[in-house]
Amino acid sequence: MDVPVIVVGAGPTGLFLAAELRLGGVDVLVLDALDRPSGQSRGLGFTARATELFDMRGLLPRFGTVRTDTRGHFGGIPLDYGVLDGGHFGARGIPQARTEAVLADRATELGAEIRRGWKAVGLVNGPDGAEVEAETPAGRRRLRCRFLVGCDGGHSFVRGAAGIAFPGTAATREMFLADVAGAAGGGIRPRPIGERLPGGMVMSAPLADGVDRVIVCERGTPPRRRDRPVTFDEVAAAWRRLTGEDIGGGTAHWVSSFGDATHQAVAYRKDSVLLAGDAAHTHLPAGGQGLSVGVQDAANLGWKLAATVHGWAPPGLLDTYHAERHPVGARLLANTRAQGLLYLGGEETLPLRAVFAELMELPEAGRHLAGRVSGLDIRYGTFPDGGHPLLGRRLPPADLVGEDGPTTTFAQLRTGRGVLLDLAADPDVRDAARPWADRVRVVTAAPREAPGGPLDGTAALLVRPDGHVAWAAPGGGPPVALPAALRRWFGRAAR
Ligand SMILES: Cc1cc2nc3c(=O)[nH]c(=O)nc-3n(C[C@H](O)[C@H](O)[C@H](O)COP(=O)(O)OP(=O)(O)OC[C@H]3O[C@@H](n4cnc5c(N)ncnc54)[C@H](O)[C@@H]3O)c2cc1C
Repeated sequence: MDVPVIVVGAGPTGLFLAAELRLGGVDVLVLDALDRPSGQSRGLGFTARATELFDMRGLLPRFGTVRTDTRGHFGGIPLDYGVLDGGHFGARGIPQARTEAVLADRATELGAEIRRGWKAVGLVNGPDGAEVEAETPAGRRRLRCRFLVGCDGGHSFVRGAAGIAFPGTAATREMFLADVAGAAGGGIRPRPIGERLPGGMVMSAPLADGVDRVIVCERGTPPRRRDRPVTFDEVAAAWRRLTGEDIGGGTAHWVSSFGDATHQAVAYRKDSVLLAGDAAHTHLPAGGQGLSVGVQDAANLGWKLAATVHGWAPPGLLDTYHAERHPVGARLLANTRAQGLLYLGGEETLPLRAVFAELMELPEAGRHLAGRVSGLDIRYGTFPDGGHPLLGRRLPPADLVGEDGPTTTFAQLRTGRGVLLDLAADPDVRDAARPWADRVRVVTAAPREAPGGPLDGTAALLVRPDGHVAWAAPGGGPPVALPAALRRWFGRAAR
């Protein structure tokens, strides 16, 4: 065994996973086919839940000023994400290349090794380990590991080589993207949530340094098999046909095309191989969710893999990765498909849009959709129904007063260990967790919130390393004893 875990792909998912594994004390090697980061940015931000995850690990300051906006949309229909507690449409204005640089620095600082210019070309998968063959600058190399995670994007080599089916629907349309400087004199009129026009849909947003991002989708443009990449002339021509505006005089920094192909891996694990991020799910990038869901996959998987490698994982822990994240991927595909229909459909979809817009005015409907896209409403089905309302959900953001002064709920998750939040200074709770002290940190702190806040009436919370609540007291339903919850997620008590 060369290393316990190999991650194939140094995109946002693979890099975040590598850092999570290092927090869990596991050696990890990341392989990426490119000899240097591409510097290109498909994504320009991340959703509310990804923002929270970065906050939990103390990474937000590394992005500089993080601008979030409660105004968002669903399929181009305006939607206020502030209807949710702590909700927003996402952190905006952060190019994906910047996110990847932050995550690469973080993974490296924590001790992960990233080998660039290593392209996975062969894979042998078995119940006790995996072997990967890579083309490297020094020729072909083979490496063995206990687990291998394919974070190698939508065209994942790992997924195919492991024989994991990827059913779905092929792209029905082709969309163009260009980052263009000096277009249309004073810049391009921003259309941040897109603008539907008789011939299709256009979107535009200012980036830094006078560069604008434009996206064009012309109706009736099925994906073409291209023997060369799309050119800026093609993008400018499509833009002119739809808007009447001439952006052709600008200088394109990056031109690309994408589609609405929608696929999901049938299994997120097969023997010693796991999949995460775009390798596990691809879809129309509506609402900017892909990177964010990949990072959440990594947060869910990292600590479970680490526990399995260290040998303290309770039976079946690693399989809860598929059980919990596959349904999240499925609903991601459903919401982006629905958004695609609303956004990009023709005249025949106008009545549907009108009815949808009416429904979205209903607070409950708005909350439902905002919860879906932001990822803030996730409740894992591995927890029994009933009981405390936070069970299986994310630890909510809240201010606390701890033994060392003011703090927050998220600050307790910096180290990536489980946390028992003793909010009522209860010695019995602390005593119960003592045999798990090597895996679960006990924090005594009091909430600093108005009545009706997210922690109101809660005396104690057991929080997994990924920030999901594994046990809470007092529960409203059948009581689950704290030691049982500790065993369920953190294995046997230490002798
Ligand atoms: C136009 C557009 C806008 C988007 N906007 C947003 C947004 O605002 N917010 C958001 O959350 N998401 C957004 N997304 C989605 C986001 O870009 C992807 O979901 C994200 O990049 C997926 O990350 P990943 O790490 O899973 O895969 P990738 O980013 O695809 O990374 C895969 C890595 O694997 C490497 N690799 C591939 N094959 C091999 C191999 N055989 N061996 C070794 N390495 C290999 C690649 O070089 C690459 O570095 C957008 C997508 C598009 C197309």
